[in-house]
Amino acid sequence: MNLNRYRRQILVKELGEKGQYTLSEKHVVVIGGGGLGSNSADILVRTGIGSIDIIDNDLLDLTNLHRTSLFNEEDIGKSKCQILEEKLQQVNSEVVVRGIKKRITKENIESAVKHADIILDGTDNMETRFLINEVAVKSNIPWIYAGVHTTVGMVMGIIPRQTPCLKCISHSIANNKTDEIPVMGNLPVTIASIQCTEAAKILLGKQLSGLIMYDIWKQRFEQINVKKNPECTCCGKERFELL
Ligand SMILES: [Zn+2]
Repeated sequence: MNLNRYRRQILVKELGEKGQYTLSEKHVVVIGGGGLGSNSADILVRTGIGSIDIIDNDLLDLTNLHRTSLFNEEDIGKSKCQILEEKLQQVNSEVVVRGIKKRITKENIESAVKHADIILDGTDNMETRFLINEVAVKSNIPWIYAGVHTTVGMVMGIIPRQTPCLKCISHSIANNKTDEIPVMGNLPVTIASIQCTEAAKILLGKQLSGLIMYDIWKQRFEQINVKKNPECTCCGKERFELL
């Protein structure tokens, strides 16, 4: 590893040289390569993670461009995960970047994440998030929930059996079932940045910040104190009904 690349980051005491080496040994799986997933993958590759899989089945569309920084007009019609693999590999050749073109299902999710040190949520629907939650708890892999809607984003780091899981707090999260989620273009990169900070904390064994809610229009930041539900069917009773 060329430490000089990370010199300014290593000066941050929360990371340091030891933290940088720790990050360089970690494998991240990002599920979804759109507004959230592409920005989080970009941040993690620049941060110096060891390896990253970006799983996405979609082709880039004109309507994706307002909330991403890595995609250009010339990429329209190409596979999102393939574009991300090519561009991010150029950003940092020391990181192993793999774009995996598939839709995550209950049949393939366990094999997709089995080598992950952490899973990042870059999806746009609660069904897939609850599936990630179950596989994460079952396989004992930390994951970071993230979601965006209009001007509001939410993030929560989840360490199975230590911190509340997504099912524990499902009553606190709106399930907006619309085909097109309204979102301000600069929100996903902000929420991705918070998501990657929580991911770094987990990978470095630091204290998490609970459920984070940020409204980019009102500039209101909240840390919500959430509790584990002992009756939770997922992390309490360990019934994995979606898998
Ligand atoms: Zn739970």
